[in-house]
Amino acid sequence: MTVEQVPDPLVVRLEGLEKTFALPSGETMTAVAGIDLELRRGEFVSLIGPSGCGKSTLLRLIGDLTQPSAGSVTVNGKRAHQARIDRDYGMVFQAPVLFEWRTVEENVRLPLELTSQDRAARDARVREMLALVELTDFARHHPYQLSGGMQQRVAIARALTFSPSILLMDEPFGALDEMTRERMNSEVLRIWEQTGITVVFVTHSIPEAVFLSSRVVVMSARPGRITRVVEIDLPRPRGVETRESRRYFEMVTEVREALRGGEGRAEEGLAEEGLASLERAEAEGLIG
Ligand code: ADP
Ligand code: MG
Repeated sequence: MTVEQVPDPLVVRLEGLEKTFALPSGETMTAVAGIDLELRRGEFVSLIGPSGCGKSTLLRLIGDLTQPSAGSVTVNGKRAHQARIDRDYGMVFQAPVLFEWRTVEENVRLPLELTSQDRAARDARVREMLALVELTDFARHHPYQLSGGMQQRVAIARALTFSPSILLMDEPFGALDEMTRERMNSEVLRIWEQTGITVVFVTHSIPEAVFLSSRVVVMSARPGRITRVVEIDLPRPRGVETRESRRYFEMVTEVREALRGGEGRAEEGLAEEGLASLERAEAEGLIG
């Protein structure tokens, strides 16, 4: 007898989404087009594609930071604008937007200061968030006293203060060195597992997308379209062993091939072709 699987509720639904920008010349430029995508609760979805393919635009459309030219964005059954008012989103960008004159705890407390919550409740929440990102011992430090990775953890703590249901991250670790980036990847997975939040993560790093995600959404450029969605079936929890597993290598190759628009190539089993494609992708500025 089979147990009927009830799918997790939809948190984001994108239908026929398109965004065009008016250029100074008077012409219009289509940044993304024909985007249909559904995200379920608790998914970790990465958007990957060449620079300028519309990843940030798509993330901003989901987060109501820019308005669609056509199509719709539905978040938790509401319009994106309502979702933003309801604080359904947390957002983290490449540069951690921290206030230098504020301590770590004061930076995390900032959004709470705009509410009518009493001081004790606020302080308790700040302590909880700092514990979540393992920065309790740095509460009284200023941002300049922290490493880049720690600063980004402060930004994550602040993004999570209102317990959003969706965390939107735009190349949050793009400015970090490779070692720190790998540590932050594990850190973000731990937070994701602990909170059950839905994450939409923009990156142009294939290994990062594969390591983190339950699904990788591959985009093509001009206009940005979804060309493929790759399910990442690597077991969790993921760690050092994941990055060294054969399946991980296969998934990295599959995403790389998808980025090249080379569907079917992976099945031909051409390992050398895979390697050559990596070099080409690097040369084309797709990765690295
Ligand atoms: P990505 O994040 O994938 O690098 P973006 O979403 O930032 O790509 O940009 C997609 C395309 O849209 C680019 O060609 C970019 O120049 C253009 N674009 C983005 N924002 C604007 C804007 N506000 N005005 C005009 N063009 C824009
Ligand atoms: Mg971008």
